Amino acid sequence: MSGGDNLDFEIRPNPAPVAESEREALLANPGFGRVFTDHMVTVRYADGKGWYDGRVEARAPISIDPASAVLHYAQEIFEGLKAYKMADGGVAMFRPDANAARFAQSAQRMAMPQLPQAAFLQSLREIIRIDENWIPQSEEGSLYLRPFAYASEVFLGVRPALEYLYLVIASPVGAYFSGGVKPVSVWVTPDFTRAAPGGTGAAKCGGNYAAGLSAQAEAIENGCDQVVYLDAVERKFVDELGGMNVVFVLDDGSLVTPPLTGTILPGITRDSVIKLAQRAGRRVEERPVSIDEWREGAASGRIREAFACGTAAVITPIGTIKSPDFEFTVADGGSGSVTMALRKELVDIQRGRSADPFGWVH
Ligand code: PMP
Repeated sequence: MSGGDNLDFEIRPNPAPVAESEREALLANPGFGRVFTDHMVTVRYADGKGWYDGRVEARAPISIDPASAVLHYAQEIFEGLKAYKMADGGVAMFRPDANAARFAQSAQRMAMPQLPQAAFLQSLREIIRIDENWIPQSEEGSLYLRPFAYASEVFLGVRPALEYLYLVIASPVGAYFSGGVKPVSVWVTPDFTRAAPGGTGAAKCGGNYAAGLSAQAEAIENGCDQVVYLDAVERKFVDELGGMNVVFVLDDGSLVTPPLTGTILPGITRDSVIKLAQRAGRRVEERPVSIDEWREGAASGRIREAFACGTAAVITPIGTIKSPDFEFTVADGGSGSVTMALRKELVDIQRGRSADPFGWVH
């Protein structure tokens, strides 16, 4: 594919797809990340040859040599986005071009070749087309798309690999909140940081998530749903959660969110919230917020609401904040009105129930 940005995919339909009745049963209650569709996309890369051998084929285990570089040095990146049924019956993705751009940035950070964005988008369209009947029909369900790429070269030297495999798999998922949106509780970890300046915090690479598992376990032990990471230098400023960005709503109706300085993931939901709020005339500040400012602001009423945002749960109120030294709630610990209004506005655009002023829905 060195000659152009488009890639032809050879389509090899799965000769033994899941029977319709079984599929329907799986779709009735898919949970998250346990049920997969009949197909996957694969594209190979070799140094000097570029991206080649694009295929849509039956989803199946891949064989991997024990000396494949990824198993040793974790040269791997991924993305996550959803396809869903629109109000008019069509199928849409939300801002897939932003995922394509972030995937390319992650590749650059991890010294991997960049898949052309046109080929990334084409690969998503191909899997949606062939596995369309795996998209849940329910109001809140969606087909979670997971594009990823890893160093497949068989070599133990520590250098960027010369061969890669790019894949897309798809997993139907149900409503994130079965009983309505619930505020989450968060644990401010005293022991761990997620990303240091110059590190990989802004890349969506597997290593970041492996490094976060101990902190997540600590959060669960302390009765919380998610981890809040503070900056790695001063241990003072709020970076983000383990898998979501953080936004604060002040008493004057403005929003504040930590800036993109390389230690947090540039969330597409975060960016969408900023653009929607600004369009509605709200002031949005991207600046550091210390954990003390959060605590004092919650006590004084200056910080009215706080929410987490990301593809999986869209927008989720943050109710309780805990650490070994303190515990507090934002307002009464419930779901704030600005948070819930932004959530509805975003979900309505995503589902085609209201106009799409930024051309986000593909
Ligand atoms: N931060 C982290 C660490 C994440 O894993 C995610 C999920 N991709 C986000 C933020 C939110 O990003 P997005 O809105 O693009 O899903």
